Amino acid sequence: MRRIDVLVPDLGDFKDVAIVEVLVKAGDRVAVNDALITLETEKATLDVPATAPGVIEQVYVKKGDRVSKGMPILKLRADDVEATTVVASTQEIEQPYVETVTLDEPTVTSVTATIDKPVERKPTPVVAPPPKPRSMPAPAQSMGGRRLVILGAGPGGYTAAFRAADLGMQVTLIEREMALGGVCLNVGCIPSKALLHAARVIEEAQSMAEHGITFGTPRIDRERLRAWKDRVIGRLTHGLTTLAKQRKVEVITGSGRFVDASKLEVTSGKQRRNVEFDQCIIAAGSESAKLPGLPDDERIMDSADALELPEKVKRLLVVGGGIIGLELACVYDALGARVTVVELTDELMPGCDRDLVRPLEKRIRKRYEQIILGARVEKIEPLSNGLRVNFGGKNAPEPHLYDRVLVAVGRTPNGNLINAEAAGVAVDERGFIRVDRQQRTNVAHIFAVGDIVGAPMLAHKASHEGRVAAEVAAGLKRSFDARVIPSVAYTDPEVAWAGLTEIDAKKQGIDYGRGVFPWVASGRSLALNRDEGLTRILFDNSTHRVIGAGIVGTNAGELISELALAIEMGCDAADIGLTIHPHPTLSETIAFAAEAFEGTLTDLYLPKR
Ligand SMILES: Cc1cc2nc3c(=O)[nH]c(=O)nc-3n(C[C@H](O)[C@H](O)[C@H](O)COP(=O)(O)OP(=O)(O)OC[C@H]3O[C@@H](n4cnc5c(N)ncnc54)[C@H](O)[C@@H]3O)c2cc1C
Repeated sequence: MRRIDVLVPDLGDFKDVAIVEVLVKAGDRVAVNDALITLETEKATLDVPATAPGVIEQVYVKKGDRVSKGMPILKLRADDVEATTVVASTQEIEQPYVETVTLDEPTVTSVTATIDKPVERKPTPVVAPPPKPRSMPAPAQSMGGRRLVILGAGPGGYTAAFRAADLGMQVTLIEREMALGGVCLNVGCIPSKALLHAARVIEEAQSMAEHGITFGTPRIDRERLRAWKDRVIGRLTHGLTTLAKQRKVEVITGSGRFVDASKLEVTSGKQRRNVEFDQCIIAAGSESAKLPGLPDDERIMDSADALELPEKVKRLLVVGGGIIGLELACVYDALGARVTVVELTDELMPGCDRDLVRPLEKRIRKRYEQIILGARVEKIEPLSNGLRVNFGGKNAPEPHLYDRVLVAVGRTPNGNLINAEAAGVAVDERGFIRVDRQQRTNVAHIFAVGDIVGAPMLAHKASHEGRVAAEVAAGLKRSFDARVIPSVAYTDPEVAWAGLTEIDAKKQGIDYGRGVFPWVASGRSLALNRDEGLTRILFDNSTHRVIGAGIVGTNAGELISELALAIEMGCDAADIGLTIHPHPTLSETIAFAAEAFEGTLTDLYLPKR
């Protein structure tokens, strides 16, 4: 039997990491891989495991201490280990962000000039350690008897329900609508993207007329278009019902409100029943914000009404120049309406960097009847021949007549509609519920996720939070630790961004540099008959790491994920520039932007910095 010091393993880029839990004490017997302490980096929590079986003799550290690679954690009387010092191997730790790979031959770049025959440029073989599943540890205890109730079946709620069921919890999902899927599937992301696809087909067909292909004026059968959109929704919502059944998630249809901190009352028509819970996740989402003082007239629509494609609209006023308003403006423009957008602030998509919005604004200013910035709707008079709109503000135009008005001025959280105070859950004056990084509200066994906990109100944020809440409820050590939540406007052109905006970087006084690649030099973009795009990456000048990125152009929403991953993984400009991107693709513009920052770009001539 030997005494060994267990040391902090290689933590990759992380130093001076906080110990959030010490899991053992002197006298404890441990087996190989038993967790000894838990560390928390800004990216993840990770356990340092025992590397040999034995008995703990002395623990050198305590909760709150900060440690780095090589520091001793504890002394272990090992059963049968020869060495006097054991460093826990990174490969034994569940440590998603610090994986090591070993190369078994030099990379292509290290081949010397003595080679006298052509080198076949095969991808360099990379031998990785045996794949280590990145699975979460098993729940601390069997969850079979503990009842988790989830209020609301949007992306936050159904993701939480399915993850919790997969972790062995007994799950009930309460939803007031007949279909699962929430705003996103039924009246948000999915129907809007189906209609935006239709808009894209129309516009792409029209744009080829000047290049020799003419299709004629499209004949739009609204009923069939609506039916197709509804079928897309139906396939997804039925899919969710099946997934719930497969996981044995109990679904209750009805409107839920808290009775106390362990009970919800669910009302469906005249029927009422109480549903008890050990833990609860509030995922009740949000609804369209209303403009006060508007008349009750069906020609004044919110986004859900607009997605129903009422009769042919000749003149549409979109109130609000944010993402939802601009996406729907794009649909109605393609379907033949003369569109006006009015926005209270001086810019479209406030908060997004101007260089990204500019190409969109330029295009829609040409296509739409009017873009009015710095003005607001003051009054709408319903007349038999239309809606007469009066404007106010510094750039207010004269009153105008429109067939329809779409109000897209933001979304209001549903926090005030669920009687949360009966459970002691704090709701702020706007209806938001505050949560910590584990998605817990001020009442520890009640969690909240999605739109109801705050901006950005996006489906992928809601589902990520739902997953975190479910895992914490199941006893796992998890927290919301994503560095970036990408945003996308699926307009034409699309606008997407992730990480720091330039506005933020300036505000925070960060020393950053830009790598920009204009798509006018992208072969793929020109071949798609478009040239207004732009890929722009922000790099920290001291480390050359990506800190933010923005793309405007066709499929920007698909492209931004590479840059979100780059930020999550701490990539620098060379990592991106030296990754071979297929040609000709729009994704190449990401590598070109990185090369532009590094000064190695060959696809454009950039004067030396
Ligand atoms: C037109 C439009 C387009 C959008 N496009 C995108 C996009 O492209 N990408 C994107 O990321 N996001 C988009 N969004 C936003 C996205 O839809 C939301 O961020 C997302 O749906 C939020 O998910 P959630 O789970 O928090 O809530 P929700 O989806 O709002 O779901 C909440 C659910 O709770 C139910 N509920 C509420 N109260 C109760 C109660 N008392 N009892 C029972 N059930 C209740 C509701 O019926 C609803 O089903 C769009 C939104 C709109 C309106």
